[in-house]
Amino acid sequence: MKITIHRGINQIGGCITEIATANKRILIDLGQNLPDNKGIVEDNLANSPAIEMLTNGIEAIFYTHYHGDHIGLFHYVPDAIPQYIGATAKQVAICKHKQLSRIHGREELSERELSKLEKMRTFVPAQQITDIEGFTITPFFVSHSACDSFMFLIEAEGKRILHTGDFRDHGYLGKGLLPTIEKYIIKEKVDILISEGTMLSRLDERVQHEKELRKKVIEVMKRYKNVFVMCSSTDLERLATFHSAHNHFEKRPFVCDIFQQDVLNIFTETAGTKTDLFNFDKVYSLQYPIHSPNNTKLIDWMKDRGFCMLVRATKKFNQWLDALLPQLDSQETVLIYSMWPEYVNPDNAKHVKDDYLKFVERFPAIEKIHTSGHASAEALTDVCNLVNPTTAIIPIHSEHANHFGKLNITEALKLKIVTESTVIQDIEIKINTIKYKDEGKELAEEYEKKRKDNFKRRMNFFAILKKV
Ligand SMILES: [Zn+2]
Ligand SMILES: [Zn+2]
Repeated sequence: MKITIHRGINQIGGCITEIATANKRILIDLGQNLPDNKGIVEDNLANSPAIEMLTNGIEAIFYTHYHGDHIGLFHYVPDAIPQYIGATAKQVAICKHKQLSRIHGREELSERELSKLEKMRTFVPAQQITDIEGFTITPFFVSHSACDSFMFLIEAEGKRILHTGDFRDHGYLGKGLLPTIEKYIIKEKVDILISEGTMLSRLDERVQHEKELRKKVIEVMKRYKNVFVMCSSTDLERLATFHSAHNHFEKRPFVCDIFQQDVLNIFTETAGTKTDLFNFDKVYSLQYPIHSPNNTKLIDWMKDRGFCMLVRATKKFNQWLDALLPQLDSQETVLIYSMWPEYVNPDNAKHVKDDYLKFVERFPAIEKIHTSGHASAEALTDVCNLVNPTTAIIPIHSEHANHFGKLNITEALKLKIVTESTVIQDIEIKINTIKYKDEGKELAEEYEKKRKDNFKRRMNFFAILKKV
């Protein structure tokens, strides 16, 4: 057995993990590096030659969830390699990419992305996937800021590996985390735990439960009649926090645009059949352009009774605000900003997003209500202690993988933390610590060299043929 952490040991995002038996290899996630604060992605793996090299001989790719730092390179993968994702996650990803396809100049790329997404295979939670000879892969639901997120139990060559993906225990779905591990995963020993460690650089940060957020949101909604909300358009649990808080206020509409309504409809038809919390009924959408007569009735209702409206920092919403804000009493109007605070922190030059900052500054009042989509130190500790892997803990999705040892885990477990390449018993662990940029370059160069060699060989062959 060989485990390769292609990326993730020294960075958040761009996750790629490979698990290989003597004759078969699979990938868990094929993520793109996160964009910088200007929206620019630096990723030398983001091209077909590099991904063809990386996926050469791979049997299948399994995605934990639809965030770009886990799925982002999917459209470079050759069609012959099956790609798997949760069924609802697939629907959301298609919906999102249809929306992206409206961006001018992106038509061709979107067409390729959508065609690859349509072909993706789906799996059923807690049902074993045995399509790859010698492997049994079982996906289990986790709570994260993406809907339909999974951790994977991978069984092969008598070994059992738990890959957590991104997860947390402080969302509505988080209460299933430890019972799921207890019931399905530790019934037999786990050899290797591959765990996210995003919060390792913020060990002291106290995370709030989504329920606490909901209470705060209700308080704000009591104080303000006109509530705009800026949060991730595909974060099921956060959207449920706002929708369920809003339901405390009768006769105010819950408003968004058509794209967001499409996403909410997917949530209602899937997760919403299991709990009312995820049933986004009575959602009203404004149409483009804002002055369309179709919007008149809804806007009158909003002005009269107040509202909760989901917005994004885009050109369209800026235009909509140009029309809406002057019609509203500024004393009664607020934006609840519910994303990572550093994006709108003008003192954080590295992370501040100018378009976000300009957008939030348009509102007469701002309230910041947010909690992380990632596992807190306590959650990481609980998972490590419960899984209690026999051989190794490999921290990924972290800028401070070495901080794993600071968790309140047993001394025996601390000794099992692996952040460099090693061989333990009969498991080879290869951890790529080269910065992603150089790795991409290396792969691309190797590919180019092979291509040239092949070309030379072919030319020699023809030269010989000619002579004959
Ligand atoms: Zn991630
Ligand atoms: Zn994620």
